[in-house]
Amino acid sequence: MPFSDFHGNADVIRRLREMLARNRFPQAVILAGPAGSGKYTLSLMLAKAMNCLQPPSIDSLPDFCGKCSNCTRIGQAEDLSARCAEAVEARESLREADKKDTRIFVQTHPDVLVIPPDPPQLMIKVDQVRRVIETIYFRPVDAKERIYIFTASSFMREAANSLLKVLEEPPEFATVFLLVENPGELLPTIRSRSMLVSLACLPEHEIDKYLARHRPEWKLKERALVARLSGGAVGQARSFDLSDYLAVRGQVLTILGCALRDTHHSELFKITETYRAGAEGREKTEKIIRALYSVLQDLMFLSAGAPELVRNVDIQAELEKLLKSLDFDWISFAAEQVDELQRGMRRNVMRSLSLDAFAAALER
Ligand SMILES: [Zn+2]
Repeated sequence: MPFSDFHGNADVIRRLREMLARNRFPQAVILAGPAGSGKYTLSLMLAKAMNCLQPPSIDSLPDFCGKCSNCTRIGQAEDLSARCAEAVEARESLREADKKDTRIFVQTHPDVLVIPPDPPQLMIKVDQVRRVIETIYFRPVDAKERIYIFTASSFMREAANSLLKVLEEPPEFATVFLLVENPGELLPTIRSRSMLVSLACLPEHEIDKYLARHRPEWKLKERALVARLSGGAVGQARSFDLSDYLAVRGQVLTILGCALRDTHHSELFKITETYRAGAEGREKTEKIIRALYSVLQDLMFLSAGAPELVRNVDIQAELEKLLKSLDFDWISFAAEQVDELQRGMRRNVMRSLSLDAFAAALER
């Protein structure tokens, strides 16, 4: 799977490969872009290109073979969520005393370490950065370049400060990737020591073309809707679970409807009741938050007279009807409440309760 398999952002890819060719690749790189824009995929591709044992030259720029022992071992980290789940499971099987001190890592190659946010808080912790410090100053064993990939920007304060020390004087044989949706979430001092590379969203017709190739079982209309809903992020589009999204969005419309109609709330509580604590509840709540944002944003577009920006195009008529009983202030207030809900999630507040509180706050 060479660089040409990376979908979109061709200029960015070319620039990165040119830096590799000139041996001018920076020691710390922030790969920024929306969820699903390919940050992780790209970081692994670069790790392979730096360490490939039979590097082909394609378009007279560095590439990777995907077949040598370095490429294949790095490639085993591609399914990030599966590898993380395995690491979490391994930790669960430890003795209670060891569990506490064990952090989650993904390592399929001795010189390439992937550092995901550590559950259950889903933060990058100081012990994880400590592992980086313990290894980064040793020359790589099987690779040419040691690679560290932080998959999120959610650093605990102490962890961020430790990382900063590493970035002040990284060894020449190591590269640190920081994958973030929003570079503003990183310490300014970390940002100033890294090169920022942004992956842009793809235009809808490109996503549609990609889906036609990779999800041929989808109907034309479904494909168009997913291309629209995924906001230009190819990874999101490919793994989009449309029926699941439509079900969650249905609940969002019920919650908004209940809040506006001022009727009895049995319907509402039936929904929030299903958002219980635990991993499943968390995932469900994240989904409903995403759907809420998406619907509220569309309502904002409609109320601002920009219907061409609406993403949930299949329910545009319904949204227009809903809009008749609310105004822009209410929509912005609701969006603020969703922010609040999301902050509550991060603090691990009881989810069904915060969802109830959210719905109650929206009532007029
Ligand atoms: Zn290779």
